[in-house]
Amino acid sequence: MKIHEYQAKEILARYGIPIQPGRVAYTPEEAEAIARDLGGPVVIKAQVYVGGRGKAGGIQFGNTPEEARAAAARVLGMNIKGLTVQKVLVVSKLEIQEEYYLGIVLDRKTQAPVVMVSTAGGVDIEEVAATTPEKIIKQAIDLRWGLRPFEARNILARAGFPSAVIARGGAILTALAQAFIESDANLAEINPLVLTRDGQVQAADAKIVLDDNALYRHRDYAAWEEPEEANPLEFEAHKEGLTYVKLNGNVGIIGNGAGLVMTTLDMVAACGGKPANFLDIGGGARAEVMAKALTFVARDPDVKGILVNIFGGITRGEEVARGVIMAQQQLPAGLPIVVRLSGTGAEEGRAMLKDAGLDWGKDMRDAAQKIVAAIQAKEKGQQA
Ligand code: GDP
Ligand code: MG
Repeated sequence: MKIHEYQAKEILARYGIPIQPGRVAYTPEEAEAIARDLGGPVVIKAQVYVGGRGKAGGIQFGNTPEEARAAAARVLGMNIKGLTVQKVLVVSKLEIQEEYYLGIVLDRKTQAPVVMVSTAGGVDIEEVAATTPEKIIKQAIDLRWGLRPFEARNILARAGFPSAVIARGGAILTALAQAFIESDANLAEINPLVLTRDGQVQAADAKIVLDDNALYRHRDYAAWEEPEEANPLEFEAHKEGLTYVKLNGNVGIIGNGAGLVMTTLDMVAACGGKPANFLDIGGGARAEVMAKALTFVARDPDVKGILVNIFGGITRGEEVARGVIMAQQQLPAGLPIVVRLSGTGAEEGRAMLKDAGLDWGKDMRDAAQKIVAAIQAKEKGQQA
């Protein structure tokens, strides 16, 4: 489960990690009042479940309460990577001298939490990892005793942290490891950890991802769940009784039943395509549900074509065909759709699709090949 920066910082503060004073605001007026309470310059920080807020304009500064209100007015309602900003964190602005990276992830290979630190903090750590991996020092944590203070200091020294930062940075890293372990996290990150002009060491940003399977042990954290924020489309689908999952390719996939949907994903991959998402319409779906599923999947901007794979049992082929035909007017013009029907009402459904000029596959492989080819042909056409 993802949590917001202010919630992650609340966890860090429980472990004694220094953070800036501040509070959450839902309106520009609240932000102004918080800035007035804090006194001095503030930072207005969008609270959304994505990183890179700074680059996206979601981190802004205000020297006076009035400027804080104006900054909050700009950030609230802003769209960052598909998420709308509903709240901002207002904190006292730090005078930053240096920015560092501290992170802990659960590593499948070593089956242990791994500490990663770097003096190249603040920017995208993935980029540092890709271009200058030698700037990141890693070490596994032995869960029998956690990360001991001397180990933490040693890691920072090896990474080239200045000696003035090692003692306090080491204490923060030890506390971060303890927070990671005790809260059953999959990831805990401080980026940046900052050295301020007046020599303080503080966590200026925090990210924690909690293990869903351990939430029953952390009722207070579980209460922070915001499914609507985490994935708006999946949340909306769930409300409509549909099972929708976002992936990262460009083929939209609709099927009935989890097993068939999984097989369809594999088949598309085997044919050289990459699924953008999948939607399981379940059993016995009528035409209206089919139509809704299609328009829903098409709303994902990554979708360049849709494959519908239905094995008819209690779901009837004619209903599926009627749903696809119904949805056609609402779908973007020229969006390739290939339907594969088998079982109950398949022949009748195929005849209806043919009459409506729609494409269908004679079996799953044929349909997967057709949709992948149609998307590739369209992309080639666009390049030409
Ligand atoms: P992210 O972009 O989502 O990772 O958000 P961060 O909280 O990490 O902020 C991005 C960048 O904004 C940081 O790397 C800093 O350079 C800058 N920033 C954030 N908070 C402060 C602050 O209190 N003072 C100053 N001077 N810069 C800040
Ligand atoms: Mg950051």
